Amino acid sequence: MSWTEERIEKLKKLWGSGKTAAEIAEALGDVTRNAVIGKANRLGLSAKSTPAVAKPKKKVIPAHRACQWPIGHPGEDNFHFCGDEAVPSKPYCLKHCNMAYQNKDNS
Ligand SMILES: [Zn+2]
Repeated sequence: MSWTEERIEKLKKLWGSGKTAAEIAEALGDVTRNAVIGKANRLGLSAKSTPAVAKPKKKVIPAHRACQWPIGHPGEDNFHFCGDEAVPSKPYCLKHCNMAYQNKDNS
């Protein structure tokens, strides 16, 4: 059994759809589960697409919890607020809290 273009494409597609290595091996036929995993590794297909480690959903942050740190300068086209989740009781996210308060704490 050899990895033809066609089989590789099929492997990529099945892997990307979240099928397990065993299922892919069965779908391709004439190949072991280990061979599928080995080939996927060589192709640089990560295990990311498996349901257990699915892409984290983007967190929806309520406006009152969004970081108020200004990015850019008011009036510029790309001016916006950071919008990351703010530290509780603070107007900024952790990164911008550190930037906002680093001098105060030391003085
Ligand atoms: Zn921020």
